[in-house]
Amino acid sequence: MPTGIGEALLAELGPDLVATGDAIDARHLRDWKLAALPGHGPVALVRPRRTEDVAAALRVCHARGVPVVPQGGLTGLAGGATPVPGCVVLSLERMRAVEAVDAAAATLTVQAGVPLQAVQEAADAAGMLFPLDIGGRGSCLIGGNISTNAGGNRVLRYGMTRELVLGLEVVLADGTVLDMLNTMLKNNAGYDLKQLFIGSEGTLGVVTRAVLRLFPRPASTCTALCAVKDYAAVVELLRRARTGLGETLAAFEVMWPDFYHLATGSLERRAPVAAGHGAYVLLESMGTDQAGDEARFASLVEGALEQGVLADAVVAQSSKESRELWAVRDASGEFGRVFWPYVSHDVSIPTGEIGAFVEECAARLRARWPEVRTVVWGHVADSNIHFGVQVGARPLPEDDISRTVYECVRDFQGSISAEHGIGLLKKAFLGHSRSAEEIGLMRRIRAVLDPAGILNPGKLF
Ligand code: ZN
Repeated sequence: MPTGIGEALLAELGPDLVATGDAIDARHLRDWKLAALPGHGPVALVRPRRTEDVAAALRVCHARGVPVVPQGGLTGLAGGATPVPGCVVLSLERMRAVEAVDAAAATLTVQAGVPLQAVQEAADAAGMLFPLDIGGRGSCLIGGNISTNAGGNRVLRYGMTRELVLGLEVVLADGTVLDMLNTMLKNNAGYDLKQLFIGSEGTLGVVTRAVLRLFPRPASTCTALCAVKDYAAVVELLRRARTGLGETLAAFEVMWPDFYHLATGSLERRAPVAAGHGAYVLLESMGTDQAGDEARFASLVEGALEQGVLADAVVAQSSKESRELWAVRDASGEFGRVFWPYVSHDVSIPTGEIGAFVEECAARLRARWPEVRTVVWGHVADSNIHFGVQVGARPLPEDDISRTVYECVRDFQGSISAEHGIGLLKKAFLGHSRSAEEIGLMRRIRAVLDPAGILNPGKLF
């Protein structure tokens, strides 16, 4: 009878699936944002090939009360996949099969370790679209996207990951396999259990397979970069875009002046419209009728220009020009080169209040750190902004800065996490956005599904 958890896992699963000690690759010690404390790495790494392997590993850990930290592509931004002391890391990266495409049901069945980009490509090869899209698409795995309910740039049109999942297979803490691989849009036969696991950050179960929704591939894309004088004009443009473009409205990305100056100044992206405006909006529609969609899009932009809602605008005349407009928005991925160090915040505020929130939050930060610099952008139609803060002190007083921002979020009845999750980084602030009763119910649900508390302990709350 083996004694240590590493030996027990090796005995059950064999050396192909289990690594211990120095054989554990260092990349499993951290997510994108947060590393395990020195000396607090995992005691074993399990890389299953099949659902049965996941179940076997969990049975062994459950019997011994050993914590298990599930990992996907390690691109998370909240420390959700960061190892906890004495844990076993369960990496889903070898479960890479795209198992089935069902054209009639418009679904794709995949294993949890398929990279998001490979899911998109499988949908494309079948002549359809899987709309989830985030910057980490090449590295992030679909199981991680599901466990964190990932958002991204197309939420306005297609919803968060939650809306894109029809069915799941999940392994519970004790190794029980839950087959919920539903393929139907309508299914009201009792509780929709899969929703419990989507966005639960690996605290309730381990996602092993999923049935995903596919959509028609859009035949037309229209893109514009618009300049407006203030946030009130942003809201008016959004109202007009929703009415004028209907369901073809696919992106409404807003950049504050600090963002635009960094992107087009320091990062030298070509400025599509001159600087000096109150805000910039990247507007995009996706439809199925090229000529009709282009005409509707042009008339929306022209009407808004004529009536003074827009101060300036550039409409892309080719897919190359469209990519150039997106390059300005996507400059956020490179801010680290020209705006460092800074503390980033992913928050939600009711859409109509976002302009007032940005002003109020900047004022509170300035009162404490007069030299503060911010960079603000976001998926405003989804109520989501990213708020980056830099002050003069080194090291950055990250906790003080975040406390100031999250208190402001609380005062605006917003959410301290729009799309990145809670993980370890935000759990101290969960009470700013969820009531004591809600958090109490979350704990009770967790106690039912994982009474020994082995799954990703210390995360979320
Ligand atoms: Zn985002």
